[in-house]
Parts: sequence; C-alpha cells; structure tokens
Amino acid sequence: MNRCVVGVDLGGTKIYTALADSRGRLAAEVRVPTGAREGPEAVIGRIAETVRRVMREAGVGPGAVAALGIGSPGPLDQAAGVVYNSPNLRGWINVPLRDRLREATGISVFLDNDANLAALGEFYFGAGRGSGNLLYVTVSTGIGAGIIIDGRIYRGAGGGAGEAGHMVISPGGPLCGCGRKGCLESLASGTAMAVRAAELVSAGRGKAILREAGDNPAALTAASVARAAGAGDPEAAGIISEAGAYLGMGLANLINVLNPDRLVMGGGALEAGSLFWDSMAGELAARALGPALGDVTVVKSVLGGKSGLMGAVALALDSCGKRLPKE
Ligand SMILES: [Zn+2]
Repeated sequence: MNRCVVGVDLGGTKIYTALADSRGRLAAEVRVPTGAREGPEAVIGRIAETVRRVMREAGVGPGAVAALGIGSPGPLDQAAGVVYNSPNLRGWINVPLRDRLREATGISVFLDNDANLAALGEFYFGAGRGSGNLLYVTVSTGIGAGIIIDGRIYRGAGGGAGEAGHMVISPGGPLCGCGRKGCLESLASGTAMAVRAAELVSAGRGKAILREAGDNPAALTAASVARAAGAGDPEAAGIISEAGAYLGMGLANLINVLNPDRLVMGGGALEAGSLFWDSMAGELAARALGPALGDVTVVKSVLGGKSGLMGAVALALDSCGKRLPKE
C-alpha cells in the first residue's frame, strides 16, 4: 500500500485509530483508553503510539502515509489546530494538538471537532451517501451537530457552527450545562432525561424508574428511564416522549433554516427505543415547513461508533488532495 492515510477519533474515554487506503478502506485499527487524566503530553504520546501500531500492522513505512486526520472534542480552533478548554479532556487548555502530533509522528496532521467529523464520516461512508446537504445530529449525554453544505463542512466565522444543543427551545426552561436556560440539550439529551427522573424521584414518585437504578437516586440515568419505559412504566414513557418531542422541535427549526436533503441521527440516546424516535419524528413532521420537510430524509447513523473515525479518514484524504469518490 503506497498511498494511505491515518484517522484518529480522540474521545474523552478512548482513542480509536485506523489506517485506510485511498478509498477509505480500513487496513488496521486499534482502540486504547485515552487516560485523559494524565494530561495532554501523555495522551499525545499514546496517540502517536497507536499510529505506529496501525502502520506496523498494515505493513507500511513512514513515507507511505500521506496525512493524518484527527477529531477531538471541542471547543477547538480548527484552523490553528488548537484544542481549547475541553470539558471532555480535563486539564487540556490551549493544547496545540495538530503541531504536537505532527512532531510526534512526522505526518501532516489535520484537526476538526468530533461532531463535524462524524457528519463527514456519514456523508462519505455511511447514512449520508448520495446526499449534498447533510445535517448530522448526535444525542447522547449532550447534543451536537455537524452541518455539510454543498459537500463541505460548514464551520461558521469562528469555527463555532453546529452548536445545535444550545438552541433555546423553552425560555425559562431547565438550566443547561452552558449556564443558560431552556437549551435543547437541557430538554432532550440523555442527561436531561436523567435529570427529569431525579426530579420525579425527589418528589416521591418515579418508583419504577428508581428500581431500575438499584433504588439509588444517584445512579439514575437515561438507561434506567428507558428500561422502566420498556417494562411499561407510564412515568418513564412520559419522560421519553417529552424529550423526544423537544428534540423534534429543535430538528424542525434546523430543517427550516438549513433545508437539508438528509438528516442523520446518531448517539446513544437513540437506544431509548422507538418511543423516543416516534415522538421526535411526530413533532418534527408537525413543526417543519412543508417544502423543507418534503426535501429531507431522516435516517439513523449506519456507522455508529465509527462515524468520527471515518470522518477523520475522510478529512485526511480530502486534505491531501485525494478527493473522495462520491456516489
Ligand atoms: Zn446550553
């Protein structure tokens, strides 16, 4: 293999690295724990080690890798290659990740945020194939988005585009992690569902949900809510359908503004089951404007946990001038 690239998906808990050929086919892949607590230098050293490992496993020498793409939790400056104060990488403050990784590996490095790259991964290799204007929304502990317009990531003036989780949906609503009130993330994320459950429990209700958390209020999660709903508990079902409806409102707003042809949904909260999805889809259909609704196909991610990695591969291929074949 003489022209290949490396993709790295850097997360708060794991580093996922792969070597791919010029069509994005993976030749070797490896996952290791991030160990973010040990600080940026240790993590950068560990990333470089995974890069050497996939090269070794695929049998390629140092000169054969044309570029390395890496996705990182934000906020970050994509153009400068610097990760700011990332809540998912504790202790990372203004880390020049791109340049440090280039020094550590000797390969040209291209950096972008994880949601943008998940969108790019789905666009080229997943549920977004054949699309031209794609919106990717991930719902897990938080809510993030990646926007692709005319085949390119839309980053905005300062690289901050795609913060769909902080659209205000309910003025005066619950407090969000960003310090403001009523953001989509405070109403529709996995964290939001866990908070609603905790509120019920502290009001002396939500017995079935609490049982799913081992009768420990501190252990309540969105998964406890989903399990209770699956067993037929109406309070749990109420939490899930309300969160799904708020998500549908947010998505309708985005569809009305962006008029995408494809909306790809990812993230662990979709595991909350068909109730969450149906409630989201119902609200979306009720609130999106007819023409925009008619243009969009709503699908689940097909790459799942691989979307960020495949986006990093796509970024590397794109950046070294290997324009990807688009179906
Ligand atoms: Zn917010």
